[in-house]
Amino acid sequence: MNVPKTFGSLVFNETVMKDRLPTATYKAFKAAVLEGRPLDLPIANIIANAMKDWALEHGCTHFTHWFQPMTGITAEKHESFITPTVEGRVIMDFSGKELIQGEPDASSFPSGGLRATFEARGYTAWDPTSYAFIKDGCLCIPTAFCSYTGDVLDKKTPLLRSMAAVNKAALRTLKLFGIESAQVTSTVGSEQEYFLVDKKMWAKRKDLVYCGRTLFGARSPRGQELEDHYFGMIKPRVMAFMKELDEELWKLGVLAKTEHNEVAPAQHELAPIFTSTNVASDHNQLMMEFMKRIAQHHGLMCLLHEKPFEGVNGSGKHNNWSLATAEGMNLLDPGKEPYKNLRFLVFLAAVLQAVDLHQDLLRISVASAGNDHRLGANEAPPAIVSVFLGSDLTNVLEAIAADKVYESGAAEKMKLSEDTLPALTKDNTDRNRTSPFAFTGNKFEFRMPGSSFSIAGPNIVLNTIVAEALDEIAGKLEGAADLEKAIYGLVKEIYSAHKRIVFNGNGYTDEWVEEAEKRGLLNLKSTPEALPYLSSAKNEALFAKYNIFSNLELESREEILLENYSTILSIEARTMLEMLHKDILPALVAYGLDLSKAANDKKKAGMKPGLEVALGDRLSVMSAAIYAKSEALVAAIKETELLEDSLAKAKAYHDKVLAAMEELRAEVDPAEELLGEKYLPYPTYGELLFGVND
Ligand code: ADP
Ligand code: MG
Repeated sequence: MNVPKTFGSLVFNETVMKDRLPTATYKAFKAAVLEGRPLDLPIANIIANAMKDWALEHGCTHFTHWFQPMTGITAEKHESFITPTVEGRVIMDFSGKELIQGEPDASSFPSGGLRATFEARGYTAWDPTSYAFIKDGCLCIPTAFCSYTGDVLDKKTPLLRSMAAVNKAALRTLKLFGIESAQVTSTVGSEQEYFLVDKKMWAKRKDLVYCGRTLFGARSPRGQELEDHYFGMIKPRVMAFMKELDEELWKLGVLAKTEHNEVAPAQHELAPIFTSTNVASDHNQLMMEFMKRIAQHHGLMCLLHEKPFEGVNGSGKHNNWSLATAEGMNLLDPGKEPYKNLRFLVFLAAVLQAVDLHQDLLRISVASAGNDHRLGANEAPPAIVSVFLGSDLTNVLEAIAADKVYESGAAEKMKLSEDTLPALTKDNTDRNRTSPFAFTGNKFEFRMPGSSFSIAGPNIVLNTIVAEALDEIAGKLEGAADLEKAIYGLVKEIYSAHKRIVFNGNGYTDEWVEEAEKRGLLNLKSTPEALPYLSSAKNEALFAKYNIFSNLELESREEILLENYSTILSIEARTMLEMLHKDILPALVAYGLDLSKAANDKKKAGMKPGLEVALGDRLSVMSAAIYAKSEALVAAIKETELLEDSLAKAKAYHDKVLAAMEELRAEVDPAEELLGEKYLPYPTYGELLFGVND
């Protein structure tokens, strides 16, 4: 494969547009995009026609508005290009209006009650900042999704609005330094973790099929203890999958860059090169979709769940975030002397203030039933939001707070060998993996998002809260007589007020949980605990100020997330019961019966059935306990289902149903360990985690 030639071959990108659009049209398009203006219809007509010709040349027959409803995945409704002629034939047609706006029926997408009082119609509007592309012979047009009354029904619209907000605030801030930039974009590189398991084994487990995670399963004798999987040799079948995945993603213009094995057996990671948050978010959706479909070409299933297996690490998605000017300046680059880099100090202070003031929003942006299993489980950051700065930057800020001049150049160098290798600065950037929000040299790495998440949510929050902080800071600095003095003064003030959010130690320890409580940091352990914060007065004011969400939209989002939480728990609980009654109990009964038969036969033959009786008795006791716990789970579900209020219901699913599920599992897993091979109702952990060897 000629990669440079194939890269972006299925994308209606800059090169294609320059090739195929009249110069005036191209210029008008670019201007509209840069200024965030809607396109005029005549221009849209010309672009639509060029897009159609290009798509037809690539074998397309259909187009779709590709959008991102609140389900967290993408949606599409394919329409063919055919238009009838008077002669009873068809031509292939695509108008500017069809490009700019579509009208999918919105009634079956989650709306959290938003549409209840309105007609069930929504419309999609072209997002010209993300290129159209071809998937399965269909021209896909990235779009935003709203209701006719203007309510936001998707994840792209608020993301675009948050990008506009942070652009404006950052440009305002840059003016203080005499920098006139055309645009500031928030950038993201999102590292995606996932598991691959054999498809035939997957199909035998209802928990994986219905829930994407195992609900039962005794630990296999070997897990990740040997620490031999991380960056280890990639198995041939997995390698073939990765190769095909890269190729397909490259065709779509996705900058797939690093592929490697992760910590847990059967766990892997793919990281792209960063790009604007909007495009990164679209590309991450494509990445997840293609991981799932290409896995199947290789007899594999891709698990994107945050915690598919108990006892080994789960999967997350590291959201590396920064701000860049259109001219290529990274605003979080500290340069050689951060202490003297006033511009950097201002942006750094803004992020610290934003994260401290809005810990709740960052926590909510990663809240889900799946991610609850990961956060705080000693494999991912705790549910407490804090910032890692590293010793260098912390010392810079401490010096400023103490009105001292920071002596730079003191960074300790780590010499790998004489001369041949460059010296690395030790601890300047973070190798501390336990921090949820770490400064990593020239960007912040938000490590809390779950592997199955749309990254739109976390980035909507990041962009908006940093916009707010920048605006406040710019407001205070504008008109300052001595800018340098004013900046050091303000950085001192902000750092002193928000330094409780800075934590450079080990985030996995109990001491940190205690310490964080003393500092007054939030520790929102579960999704139902976190969600009610979303529509607080503080957050309503923030999102209203930047026109990201109305109060009604926030409430509806809270409602959708609560309902989603309860629904997931309900499906998991019922899947457990189904597996129990259809698979596990019959297996236990069959084994017990065979043991009792064997015992009787032995007795008849004059032998003592010691093992058969002992094991049979033990399994009987276990089976009775399992049955009792399953009845308790049934009761918990019944009781919870009676609740009408969505918050009360989600809480009960967490406190009662999830607790009952855990108790049931605690009885089943030890019994599974005792089952003979032929009685095992489904593939074990060992087979799932170590089953792909070809
Ligand atoms: P890690 O050490 O966390 O595994 P990786 O090198 O795998 O780091 O991933 C780092 C990610 O950060 C990549 O996706 C990279 O493109 C991204 N990144 C680098 N610079 C920036 C930036 N300025 N803004 C956003 N993301 C960035
Ligand atoms: Mg990372």
